[in-house]
Amino acid sequence: MEKDPVCGMTVDPKRAAGSSVYKGRTFYFCSSGCKASFDRNPAQFAK
Ligand SMILES: [Zn+2]
Repeated sequence: MEKDPVCGMTVDPKRAAGSSVYKGRTFYFCSSGCKASFDRNPAQFAK
């Protein structure tokens, strides 16, 4: 399981609504809204 960096929800990568790669890491999201927030400002969420 992976953690959605935007809302903190636990996300199953196989069922994630979306994913983004940032600095060589793949982040998974519970919804397209969370992915959009991440893509706007990845540095804020990728810790
Ligand atoms: Zn989310």
